[in-house]
Amino acid sequence: MNRCVAAIVGFAVAVAICVGAAANDAPFGPWGYDLSARDTSIRPGDDFYGYASGAWMKRTEIPAERSNWGMHAALAERTLVQLRTIMEDAGKADPKTIAGKVGAYYAAFMDEARIEQLGATPLRPSLDAVRAAPSRAALAVLMGKANADFYGSVFNVFVQVDAKDPAHYVVGLSQSGLGMPDRDYYLQPSFAAKKTAYQAYVAKLLTLEGWPEPEKNAAAIVALETKIAEASWTRVQERDVVATYNAMSLAELKAMAPGFDWDGFFKAADLGAPAKIVVVEKTAIPKLAAIFAAADLNTLKAWEAFNVADNASVYLSKAFADASFEFRSHALTGATEQRPRWKRAVHTVAGGDILFGLRSEQYGCLVWATGDLYVAKHFPPAVRAKANAQMENLRAALRARIERLTWMSPATKAKALEKVKTLRIFIGSGHDDRDYSRIVVTHDDLFGDAQRIGEFEWARLAARPGKAVDRDEWAESPQTVNDYEDPVMNVVAFPAAYLQAPFFDAGADPAVNYGAAGLMAHELTHGFDDQGRQFDAQGRITDWWTPDDAKTFNARIKALGAQYDAYQVLPGLHVNGDLTMGENIADLGGLLIAYDAYHKSLGGKPAPVLDGLTGDQRFFLGWAQVWRYKIRDDAARNRIVSDVHAPAGARVVIPVQNIDAWYTAFGVKPGDKQYRAPKDRVKIW
Ligand SMILES: [Zn+2]
Repeated sequence: MNRCVAAIVGFAVAVAICVGAAANDAPFGPWGYDLSARDTSIRPGDDFYGYASGAWMKRTEIPAERSNWGMHAALAERTLVQLRTIMEDAGKADPKTIAGKVGAYYAAFMDEARIEQLGATPLRPSLDAVRAAPSRAALAVLMGKANADFYGSVFNVFVQVDAKDPAHYVVGLSQSGLGMPDRDYYLQPSFAAKKTAYQAYVAKLLTLEGWPEPEKNAAAIVALETKIAEASWTRVQERDVVATYNAMSLAELKAMAPGFDWDGFFKAADLGAPAKIVVVEKTAIPKLAAIFAAADLNTLKAWEAFNVADNASVYLSKAFADASFEFRSHALTGATEQRPRWKRAVHTVAGGDILFGLRSEQYGCLVWATGDLYVAKHFPPAVRAKANAQMENLRAALRARIERLTWMSPATKAKALEKVKTLRIFIGSGHDDRDYSRIVVTHDDLFGDAQRIGEFEWARLAARPGKAVDRDEWAESPQTVNDYEDPVMNVVAFPAAYLQAPFFDAGADPAVNYGAAGLMAHELTHGFDDQGRQFDAQGRITDWWTPDDAKTFNARIKALGAQYDAYQVLPGLHVNGDLTMGENIADLGGLLIAYDAYHKSLGGKPAPVLDGLTGDQRFFLGWAQVWRYKIRDDAARNRIVSDVHAPAGARVVIPVQNIDAWYTAFGVKPGDKQYRAPKDRVKIW
């Protein structure tokens, strides 16, 4: 089934979604900062993260149902409660109205008795189709339906904005087929226990759905996926903007990757015979086709049967939902309790990444139907105006920093400034073209509802290749506690649910609010990180840099990458500087831009001192506050291999270590543990 969010702008590197970490579960003090979170026995220059948030770290327990806890999670929990009320109220509306459909979908999810009574029955038509498939070609047809139904596929097909022709949509094709979070889980000895747990999970679902020889098939499925993992590109390879854009015709794809029924696959995906296909992992696709062609047909069928149950588990009886929790939340990320049903219901209806880490977020959701109800109730126009004003201040600060750069030539600078000018800033919520009046949603057919919504979402996307791009479309819903940047659309967006304390608090001390806005400015600079800089003002992949400027930029980011490589998360486990490069560049640039904008906002007057803290001290504490965060070890290991963001502690400390004003603000001197000599501080923007 389609991903509610990601499929809209599915270019391999396109959307830098900035899911993060720490949040505050307590009020934020009289001026926007929770002073009781600090550990003042720690010197800021020795451990700035500990100084800023040490007491909070000591007193905070990660909820049993979560793998992590922080500011994003706390705000997400608050949003869930708001949405629950909205959905319960919507249940009283006429079922034919859009609000009524939101209420009915929620009610269908909450009707546990009905779901238990059905057991595995809803899976039967899909499993019958898998069982009846006489050939690999027939399985390729089922895989083509993966976007609109619960089937899995070894290839991910999607519709995206064409990064070399950003006025039009195009079909994209990438590697897929893995049930664990990353290829490393199959190939690295450190994940061996997870691989064993995965095989047990596969066997469990096959047993629950009555598939023959579950143990034997589970072993064969994991062996098959291990081959797929070996052939798959790494996440670092996937960050290469140029290498991941390989436009070709269907005939060229068929010649490049024989052994898979591409005609049947695209036809089943309702894409006919696409005129142009942008292939992401060019060298992996033929290998996956060969693995598919050589695999035992019965293993492929068992693999598909497992995928159907895995993808649908959230809509099925307790036995399926518990098995999914046991592997995906407990074994993979360390959560010890399943989320209450109402939270899973809200998440299923509202979609997006309100709750991070639940697989259900990828499937049929009434995203914007919910979003409109949420905005009407919880997003006052005054917040939009204030956020807009702040974002324009940040844009001006970015422009000024680029103008002042000494290492960039006037030619490159002119192009960069054009890009700053044309960047569009979305605040709160936007327009959406989904016509929900066309979907049938009933209160007693959860599985069918999810299927119909999934079909509806994919039909909307499948009609797009070759058509003009809707430049106003959002990639995240208003109820998402997150923000994003999209270089192909040249847009940054800040959903309504994100524009709340501690991320944005117009009533807070400006120093704290601008410190937190380092994260908003972070989005502005993504257009100039190692990936974003390869897109021009129109969103097209273009090299607009002089060779010398590119060389200087690359030398500077290499030095930054080395700082992150050296950061230890758990004993022996380090951040991957290459994987997190774009986010790290954005954190450093974003914090500097926010710092400039804060000082400009003072209008030449000195900042007041509050509770003994100077304006600059409060600014850096405001940055640290948004990254208050705890995570379980298994989840941390998962993130290190699969997340393009560095962990929260690194996001606090490494940027400030490169900013001279931090040393002045806290009197950090040589000999302090987190001191970096001026020559070792990286300057990019
Ligand atoms: Zn980011």
